[in-house]
Amino acid sequence: MAGSATDKGPLKIGLFGGTFDPPHIGHLVLADQVKHIVELDELVFMVANNPWQKEGTRKITDAKTRVALATVALEAAEGISVSDLELQIGGDSFTINTVVALKQHYADLGHEASIHVIVGSDAAAGLNTWHEHERLREMVEIIVVNRPGGHGVAPGWRTRHIGIPPLDISSTQIRASIRAGRSVRYLTLDPVIEAIDKFGLYRD
Ligand code: ATP
Ligand code: MG
Repeated sequence: MAGSATDKGPLKIGLFGGTFDPPHIGHLVLADQVKHIVELDELVFMVANNPWQKEGTRKITDAKTRVALATVALEAAEGISVSDLELQIGGDSFTINTVVALKQHYADLGHEASIHVIVGSDAAAGLNTWHEHERLREMVEIIVVNRPGGHGVAPGWRTRHIGIPPLDISSTQIRASIRAGRSVRYLTLDPVIEAIDKFGLYRD
């Protein structure tokens, strides 16, 4: 994460949290579209250390490996970075803690930062289940992006809706395809597929 010098007020930072197990073109198209439409200074893929709301529902790939997958997925991206901040914080990943730490990170670089939390419309429906959501809603704007099958946004948040080309792609589908021996080419980038092969992920 960097921060460009600006005299236009606070840096506009997009915080795009996820499990990214694995990252796919749905994530990438979303990030690129939002970055340009919202005119973000930087968009950060924030890899969850422990995605506590998914705990017990399935086996989650270890966080460092998911950071590696996101890193290769974004090798060619400009103004979009991957952060392991939630791994550094450790434990369950609560966006409230991430936002506080992210604001501090930019403050240490001499910048005020306004944080725009980016969610697909499936995740947006559950915002009021997030840890300390009442405090969080005072601190951020929510950027809601359409997702096939997604629901509306939970009430009470400062939101902006961004329309993007709908892509009905999920990490769940990709994991299932790999387990079944089907091709996932073009659903994610070739370097991600190579890393999945190298690490032997999703086969069991
Ligand atoms: P899984 O199937 O394992 O839940 P996922 O594809 O939903 O994986 P996540 O890491 O859970 O990916 O999602 C991170 C964020 O990206 C969420 O806000 C989610 O709504 C959004 N997102 C994921 N895929 C898409 C998509 N195809 N279109 C729009 N938003 C998406
Ligand atoms: Mg999901």
